[in-house]
Amino acid sequence: MQTFKAISDIRKARHKDPIQSWGLVPTMGYLHEGHLSLIRKARQQNDRIGVSIFINPIQFNNSKDLMTYPQNLEEDLSLLEKENVDLVWIPSDDLVYPSDFQTYIDVTKITSRLEGAARPGHFKGVTTVVAKLFNVFQPHRVYFGKKDFQQLAVIKQMVKDLNFNIQIIPCPIIRENDGLAMSSRNSNLSAEARKQAVCLYQALTAAKNAVSAGEKNCNTLKTIIADIIQTAKTSKIDYISIADPDSLEELDVLQKKGLFSMAVYMDKIRLIDNMEVYL
Ligand code: AMP
Repeated sequence: MQTFKAISDIRKARHKDPIQSWGLVPTMGYLHEGHLSLIRKARQQNDRIGVSIFINPIQFNNSKDLMTYPQNLEEDLSLLEKENVDLVWIPSDDLVYPSDFQTYIDVTKITSRLEGAARPGHFKGVTTVVAKLFNVFQPHRVYFGKKDFQQLAVIKQMVKDLNFNIQIIPCPIIRENDGLAMSSRNSNLSAEARKQAVCLYQALTAAKNAVSAGEKNCNTLKTIIADIIQTAKTSKIDYISIADPDSLEELDVLQKKGLFSMAVYMDKIRLIDNMEVYL
Protein backbone atom coordinates (compact mmCIF):
# COMPACT_ATOMS: atom_id res chain seq x y z
CA MET A 1 0.00 0.00 0.00
CA GLN A 2 1.35 3.39 -0.97
CA THR A 3 0.24 6.51 0.89
CA PHE A 4 0.79 9.99 -0.51
CA LYS A 5 -0.14 13.60 0.14
CA ALA A 6 1.08 15.21 -3.09
CA ILE A 7 -1.13 15.11 -6.20
CA SER A 8 1.91 14.45 -8.42
CA ASP A 9 2.75 11.29 -6.40
CA ILE A 10 -0.82 9.98 -6.67
CA ARG A 11 -0.81 10.61 -10.43
CA LYS A 12 2.52 8.82 -10.85
CA ALA A 13 1.35 5.75 -8.90
CA ARG A 14 -2.03 5.76 -10.63
CA HIS A 15 -0.52 5.75 -14.12
CA LYS A 16 2.29 3.29 -13.46
CA ASP A 17 0.17 0.46 -14.94
CA PRO A 18 -2.00 2.22 -17.50
CA ILE A 19 -3.94 -0.86 -18.61
CA GLN A 20 -5.19 -1.77 -15.14
CA SER A 21 -8.76 -0.91 -14.06
CA TRP A 22 -8.95 1.43 -11.08
CA GLY A 23 -11.64 1.71 -8.39
CA LEU A 24 -11.85 4.66 -5.99
CA VAL A 25 -13.54 4.98 -2.60
CA PRO A 26 -13.73 8.58 -1.34
CA THR A 27 -13.99 8.87 2.48
CA MET A 28 -13.57 11.36 5.30
CA GLY A 29 -11.81 8.72 7.42
CA TYR A 30 -12.60 7.27 10.86
CA LEU A 31 -13.36 4.13 8.91
CA HIS A 32 -15.99 1.55 9.87
CA GLU A 33 -17.61 -1.52 8.29
CA GLY A 34 -19.74 0.73 6.05
CA HIS A 35 -16.61 2.14 4.41
CA LEU A 36 -14.98 -1.30 4.33
CA SER A 37 -17.97 -2.75 2.46
CA LEU A 38 -17.36 -0.21 -0.32
CA ILE A 39 -13.64 -0.97 -0.34
CA ARG A 40 -14.29 -4.74 -0.53
CA LYS A 41 -16.65 -4.28 -3.47
CA ALA A 42 -14.06 -2.09 -5.20
CA ARG A 43 -11.39 -4.73 -4.50
CA GLN A 44 -13.54 -7.40 -6.19
CA GLN A 45 -14.29 -5.34 -9.29
CA ASN A 46 -10.94 -3.67 -10.09
CA ASP A 47 -7.26 -4.51 -10.60
CA ARG A 48 -6.15 -1.59 -8.44
CA ILE A 49 -7.99 0.42 -5.80
CA GLY A 50 -7.48 3.81 -4.25
CA VAL A 51 -8.99 5.37 -1.13
CA SER A 52 -8.98 9.04 -0.24
CA ILE A 53 -9.16 10.27 3.34
CA PHE A 54 -10.02 13.95 3.44
CA ILE A 55 -12.31 15.85 5.78
CA ASN A 56 -13.55 18.29 3.17
CA PRO A 57 -13.99 21.63 4.98
CA ILE A 58 -16.16 23.24 2.29
CA GLN A 59 -18.96 20.67 2.65
CA PHE A 60 -19.49 21.50 6.33
CA ASN A 61 -22.11 24.17 6.86
CA ASN A 62 -21.53 24.04 10.61
CA SER A 63 -18.08 24.85 12.01
CA LYS A 64 -18.66 22.87 15.24
CA ASP A 65 -19.50 19.78 13.19
CA LEU A 66 -16.20 20.22 11.29
CA MET A 67 -14.17 20.77 14.46
CA THR A 68 -15.62 17.71 16.21
CA TYR A 69 -15.52 15.35 13.21
CA PRO A 70 -13.74 12.18 14.49
CA GLN A 71 -10.28 11.23 13.20
CA ASN A 72 -7.90 8.30 13.66
CA LEU A 73 -5.48 8.15 10.76
CA GLU A 74 -3.25 5.43 12.22
CA GLU A 75 -6.18 3.05 12.72
CA ASP A 76 -7.57 3.93 9.26
CA LEU A 77 -4.27 3.09 7.56
CA SER A 78 -4.02 -0.20 9.39
CA LEU A 79 -7.56 -1.13 8.25
CA LEU A 80 -6.77 -0.15 4.66
CA GLU A 81 -3.58 -2.21 4.69
CA LYS A 82 -5.62 -5.28 5.70
CA GLU A 83 -8.05 -4.68 2.83
CA ASN A 84 -5.22 -4.74 0.31
CA VAL A 85 -5.71 -1.16 -0.83
CA ASP A 86 -3.09 -0.08 -3.39
CA LEU A 87 -3.08 3.69 -3.06
CA VAL A 88 -4.20 6.11 -0.34
CA TRP A 89 -4.44 9.87 -0.76
CA ILE A 90 -4.37 11.95 2.40
CA PRO A 91 -4.08 15.53 1.19
CA SER A 92 -3.89 18.60 3.41
CA ASP A 93 -6.54 21.35 3.12
CA ASP A 94 -4.16 23.74 1.33
CA LEU A 95 -3.26 21.14 -1.30
CA VAL A 96 -6.93 20.68 -2.20
CA TYR A 97 -7.85 24.35 -1.77
CA PRO A 98 -4.81 26.58 -2.40
CA SER A 99 -5.27 30.23 -1.44
CA ASP A 100 -6.26 31.26 -4.99
CA PHE A 101 -8.88 28.48 -5.39
CA GLN A 102 -12.01 29.82 -7.13
CA THR A 103 -13.83 27.06 -9.06
CA TYR A 104 -16.89 25.22 -7.69
CA ILE A 105 -19.30 22.64 -9.09
CA ASP A 106 -22.95 23.28 -8.33
CA VAL A 107 -25.61 20.69 -9.23
CA THR A 108 -28.85 22.67 -9.00
CA LYS A 109 -32.34 21.12 -8.89
CA ILE A 110 -31.77 17.83 -7.11
CA THR A 111 -29.77 19.60 -4.38
CA SER A 112 -32.66 21.92 -3.51
CA ARG A 113 -34.39 19.31 -1.33
CA LEU A 114 -33.69 17.19 1.78
CA GLU A 115 -30.03 17.48 2.86
CA GLY A 116 -29.47 20.27 0.34
CA ALA A 117 -32.28 22.34 1.86
CA ALA A 118 -31.23 21.54 5.44
CA ARG A 119 -27.51 22.17 4.86
CA PRO A 120 -27.04 25.11 2.44
CA GLY A 121 -23.82 24.81 0.41
CA HIS A 122 -23.20 21.22 1.52
CA PHE A 123 -23.56 19.58 -1.89
CA LYS A 124 -21.59 22.31 -3.67
CA GLY A 125 -18.71 21.33 -1.38
CA VAL A 126 -19.26 17.62 -2.03
CA THR A 127 -19.43 17.86 -5.83
CA THR A 128 -16.43 20.18 -5.98
CA VAL A 129 -14.19 17.84 -4.00
CA VAL A 130 -15.50 14.71 -5.76
CA ALA A 131 -14.81 16.26 -9.18
CA LYS A 132 -11.27 16.99 -8.01
CA LEU A 133 -10.89 13.39 -6.79
CA PHE A 134 -12.08 12.16 -10.18
CA ASN A 135 -9.46 14.30 -11.92
CA VAL A 136 -6.63 13.29 -9.60
CA PHE A 137 -7.31 9.51 -9.63
CA GLN A 138 -9.00 9.16 -13.04
CA PRO A 139 -10.78 6.02 -11.77
CA HIS A 140 -12.93 3.68 -13.86
CA ARG A 141 -15.37 3.01 -11.02
CA VAL A 142 -16.20 4.99 -7.89
CA TYR A 143 -18.09 3.57 -4.91
CA PHE A 144 -20.69 5.48 -2.86
CA GLY A 145 -22.95 4.29 0.00
CA LYS A 146 -26.73 4.55 -0.10
CA LYS A 147 -26.45 5.77 3.50
CA ASP A 148 -26.02 9.17 1.81
CA PHE A 149 -28.73 8.52 -0.75
CA GLN A 150 -29.03 12.08 -2.02
CA GLN A 151 -25.26 12.42 -2.30
CA LEU A 152 -25.25 9.40 -4.59
CA ALA A 153 -28.04 10.93 -6.71
CA VAL A 154 -26.22 14.27 -6.92
CA ILE A 155 -22.95 12.62 -7.96
CA LYS A 156 -24.75 10.57 -10.64
CA GLN A 157 -26.27 13.79 -11.98
CA MET A 158 -22.88 15.51 -12.03
CA VAL A 159 -21.27 12.56 -13.86
CA LYS A 160 -24.05 12.66 -16.44
CA ASP A 161 -24.08 16.43 -16.87
CA LEU A 162 -20.30 16.83 -17.11
CA ASN A 163 -19.66 13.62 -19.12
CA PHE A 164 -17.21 12.08 -16.68
CA ASN A 165 -16.26 8.69 -18.15
CA ILE A 166 -16.70 6.99 -14.77
CA GLN A 167 -19.07 4.31 -13.49
CA ILE A 168 -20.76 5.13 -10.17
CA ILE A 169 -21.40 2.03 -8.06
CA PRO A 170 -24.07 2.31 -5.33
CA CYS A 171 -23.52 0.18 -2.20
CA PRO A 172 -26.10 -0.88 0.44
CA ILE A 173 -26.33 0.64 3.93
CA ILE A 174 -24.38 -1.29 6.59
CA ARG A 175 -25.97 -1.25 10.05
CA GLU A 176 -24.96 -2.06 13.63
CA ASN A 177 -26.59 -5.16 15.18
CA ASP A 178 -29.45 -3.08 16.62
CA GLY A 179 -30.14 -1.44 13.23
CA LEU A 180 -28.38 1.93 13.65
CA ALA A 181 -26.77 2.88 10.32
CA MET A 182 -22.99 2.94 10.76
CA SER A 183 -21.53 6.44 10.69
CA SER A 184 -18.29 8.04 11.84
CA ARG A 185 -20.41 10.60 13.73
CA ASN A 186 -21.95 7.81 15.88
CA SER A 187 -18.74 7.91 17.96
CA ASN A 188 -19.74 11.40 19.15
CA LEU A 189 -23.02 10.13 20.68
CA SER A 190 -23.32 9.90 24.47
CA ALA A 191 -24.06 6.40 25.81
CA GLU A 192 -27.71 7.37 26.34
CA ALA A 193 -28.13 8.94 22.89
CA ARG A 194 -26.42 5.93 21.29
CA LYS A 195 -28.96 3.62 22.92
CA GLN A 196 -31.86 5.77 21.78
CA ALA A 197 -30.47 6.31 18.25
CA VAL A 198 -31.91 2.95 17.20
CA CYS A 199 -35.23 4.84 16.95
CA LEU A 200 -34.32 6.01 13.41
CA TYR A 201 -34.19 2.45 12.10
CA GLN A 202 -37.20 1.39 14.18
CA ALA A 203 -39.24 4.26 12.74
CA LEU A 204 -38.26 3.44 9.15
CA THR A 205 -39.05 -0.24 9.73
CA ALA A 206 -42.44 0.59 11.26
CA ALA A 207 -43.31 2.74 8.24
CA LYS A 208 -42.22 -0.02 5.87
CA ASN A 209 -44.41 -2.50 7.79
CA ALA A 210 -47.36 -0.07 7.58
CA VAL A 211 -46.87 0.06 3.79
CA SER A 212 -46.88 -3.76 3.68
CA ALA A 213 -50.17 -3.64 5.61
CA GLY A 214 -51.66 -1.37 2.93
CA GLU A 215 -50.96 2.22 4.08
CA LYS A 216 -50.06 4.56 1.19
CA ASN A 217 -50.86 7.99 2.59
CA CYS A 218 -47.54 9.76 3.12
CA ASN A 219 -48.78 12.05 5.91
CA THR A 220 -49.98 9.02 7.86
CA LEU A 221 -46.68 7.26 7.24
CA LYS A 222 -44.69 10.33 8.32
CA THR A 223 -46.75 10.48 11.53
CA ILE A 224 -45.88 6.85 12.26
CA ILE A 225 -42.18 7.76 11.84
CA ALA A 226 -42.40 10.95 13.92
CA ASP A 227 -44.25 9.24 16.79
CA ILE A 228 -41.51 6.64 17.16
CA ILE A 229 -38.67 9.18 16.93
CA GLN A 230 -40.35 11.33 19.57
CA THR A 231 -40.41 8.47 22.09
CA ALA A 232 -36.61 8.87 22.28
CA LYS A 233 -36.00 11.63 24.87
CA THR A 234 -32.79 13.01 23.32
CA SER A 235 -34.24 13.25 19.78
CA LYS A 236 -35.10 16.35 17.77
CA ILE A 237 -36.44 15.89 14.26
CA ASP A 238 -34.82 18.01 11.52
CA TYR A 239 -36.94 16.56 8.70
CA ILE A 240 -38.86 13.46 7.70
CA SER A 241 -39.41 12.86 4.00
CA ILE A 242 -41.13 10.42 1.69
CA ALA A 243 -39.96 11.20 -1.81
CA ASP A 244 -39.65 9.79 -5.29
CA PRO A 245 -36.23 8.04 -5.24
CA ASP A 246 -35.35 9.38 -8.71
CA SER A 247 -36.43 13.04 -8.57
CA LEU A 248 -36.43 13.32 -4.74
CA GLU A 249 -39.73 15.21 -5.03
CA GLU A 250 -42.05 14.77 -2.03
CA LEU A 251 -44.93 12.34 -2.47
CA ASP A 252 -48.49 12.68 -1.10
CA VAL A 253 -49.45 9.11 -1.90
CA LEU A 254 -46.95 6.29 -2.24
CA GLN A 255 -46.86 5.00 -5.81
CA LYS A 256 -44.61 2.09 -6.77
CA LYS A 257 -41.61 3.11 -4.68
CA GLY A 258 -40.60 5.70 -2.15
CA LEU A 259 -37.45 6.92 -0.47
CA PHE A 260 -38.19 7.26 3.26
CA SER A 261 -35.49 9.48 4.75
CA MET A 262 -34.84 11.61 7.77
CA ALA A 263 -32.39 13.75 9.66
CA VAL A 264 -32.64 13.66 13.44
CA TYR A 265 -30.55 15.28 16.17
CA MET A 266 -29.75 12.82 18.93
CA ASP A 267 -28.42 14.91 21.79
CA LYS A 268 -27.16 17.56 19.27
CA ILE A 269 -25.46 14.99 16.98
CA ARG A 270 -27.17 15.07 13.59
CA LEU A 271 -27.85 11.60 12.16
CA ILE A 272 -29.35 10.69 8.79
CA ASP A 273 -30.92 7.43 7.67
CA ASN A 274 -33.13 6.18 4.86
CA MET A 275 -34.93 3.17 3.46
CA GLU A 276 -36.18 2.44 -0.05
CA VAL A 277 -39.72 1.06 0.15
CA TYR A 278 -41.41 -0.77 -2.71
CA LEU A 279 -45.14 -1.51 -3.06
P1 AMP B 1 -17.92 9.45 4.72
O1 AMP B 1 -16.56 9.05 5.23
O2 AMP B 1 -18.97 9.54 5.78
O3 AMP B 1 -17.88 10.64 3.80
O4 AMP B 1 -18.41 8.24 3.80
C1 AMP B 1 -17.65 7.77 2.73
C2 AMP B 1 -18.50 6.82 1.91
O5 AMP B 1 -18.92 5.74 2.73
C3 AMP B 1 -19.79 7.47 1.37
O6 AMP B 1 -20.03 7.00 0.05
C4 AMP B 1 -20.84 6.98 2.34
O7 AMP B 1 -22.14 6.93 1.78
C5 AMP B 1 -20.33 5.59 2.64
N1 AMP B 1 -20.89 5.12 3.91
C6 AMP B 1 -20.82 5.74 5.11
N2 AMP B 1 -21.51 5.03 6.04
C7 AMP B 1 -22.02 3.95 5.40
C8 AMP B 1 -22.83 2.85 5.81
N3 AMP B 1 -23.27 2.71 7.05
N4 AMP B 1 -23.16 1.93 4.88
C9 AMP B 1 -22.75 2.06 3.58
N5 AMP B 1 -21.98 3.07 3.14
C10 AMP B 1 -21.62 4.01 4.04
